[in-house]
Amino acid sequence: MSGWLAVLLSKLVWVGKRVAAPLRRSDGPNKFRLSSMDTATTTYDGDIGWARRPPATVECPRCESEIFQHNARDSIDCPRCIGEYSHDEFADLKLLYLTCPVCRSRMEHGQRHPERFDIPEWATCTDCRYHWEFEHSYDTGAD
Ligand SMILES: [Zn+2]
Ligand SMILES: [Zn+2]
Repeated sequence: MSGWLAVLLSKLVWVGKRVAAPLRRSDGPNKFRLSSMDTATTTYDGDIGWARRPPATVECPRCESEIFQHNARDSIDCPRCIGEYSHDEFADLKLLYLTCPVCRSRMEHGQRHPERFDIPEWATCTDCRYHWEFEHSYDTGAD
């Protein structure tokens, strides 16, 4: 009984490690990098997609404190008051600035389709040239 159970468990652990490894590697915005194919036309770091959005600082609607949201999927908890917001409510909050995940500078950000989205669609770091895009399709047609 214990023999085959131990074998089964060791196999499960082995599979678990194999599944977990790539997830751990991609944990955090610093670890995300475009493949060499995607960066063929650029010389600086970049990320694409809302899940890879740079850390954001928003304003608490209750007390006007700055709330730092490291990841786009993190809940938004005010450090000063009882204000607590889901990541779904990000668009309703006032975005103060995005932080460059590479060099921690404040980034410039903007929208390409303000009629479609109420969120930033691009952000650029003027210090290290790191660039983030909400959607990949806007890259095409530039050259
Ligand atoms: Zn607050
Ligand atoms: Zn930077």
